[in-house]
Amino acid sequence: MRISSAFNGVVVADLEPSGTTGWLSTYIVLGSESVAIVDPGPKSSAEAFAELIDMLDVRRFKKVYIALTHVHIDHAGVTGDLVEILPNALVLVHSRGVKHLVDPSKLWQSSLEVLGENAKLLGEPKPVPQDRIVGLVDRVRIELSGAELVGIPTPGHAPHHVSYLLEPGGLLFAGDSIANYFNGRLYPVTVHPFDSEEYLRSLDSMLKLQPKKIGVAHYGLVDEEPEVFIQRARDKLISWIYHIGSLINSGISKPEDIYQHVLSRDVELAYAKRLEELMPAFRGSTYRVIAGLHSYISRKNRTL
Ligand SMILES: [Zn+2]
Repeated sequence: MRISSAFNGVVVADLEPSGTTGWLSTYIVLGSESVAIVDPGPKSSAEAFAELIDMLDVRRFKKVYIALTHVHIDHAGVTGDLVEILPNALVLVHSRGVKHLVDPSKLWQSSLEVLGENAKLLGEPKPVPQDRIVGLVDRVRIELSGAELVGIPTPGHAPHHVSYLLEPGGLLFAGDSIANYFNGRLYPVTVHPFDSEEYLRSLDSMLKLQPKKIGVAHYGLVDEEPEVFIQRARDKLISWIYHIGSLINSGISKPEDIYQHVLSRDVELAYAKRLEELMPAFRGSTYRVIAGLHSYISRKNRTL
């Protein structure tokens, strides 16, 4: 486990899920009487999380919020375990994600289909009791004794994605709504079922928040200015759409071939591909990103 206290007292934790270091960041906002845990991680983090809870003495807080950006099993799979060991914890999630927490069986099936062996590595989520979940619809403000967490719907990566802005301080927890970010390299997380129009609109709404700092799920606090980071993610998506479109027009249609072409031209994606070898839980991720965008573009073309 790696812990750092980085920005305005927010703890950034890497619980090294499934033996994978440098892949998933969990953020813990410690108020005077309440605490918020953003993107707790997969089921495989349950043991490490129990240690972290003791270490930070999380049980002393009157209110505990588990703020999920979305229900994908790498972000939220440990939630069922957490509500058991934290009896006063409430889970915040977009209303469209609630049913997948209450009954994770469908989510687990589709995770097995999309992630294969990786899903097993991350672990099957436990159900979360309905009365422990708060379904978010529009923008919502959560009081954190002296601070405030503002939940903003940011669909695109997933239709039920929510980002959270911490005020004061302006730290935006962006989950997967902007980009994956490894050592200064970034690319949008366009896995199926990605929606590029919604994603671009969400980037605009996050820009309007004028965040002072961005923290992503994969991985960590972003060194760049937020507006530059968001603009780079937008530019990358548009260049991918253009590149994949021209490959399709030239008769290349297999996702594997499209992936190889994009990989050969994109140094940031190629960097992430090399990281896959060091990170068991990350394997196959760069392929899924390009295949997801290709599938989105193909669906779009069929309906035009
Ligand atoms: Zn995700």
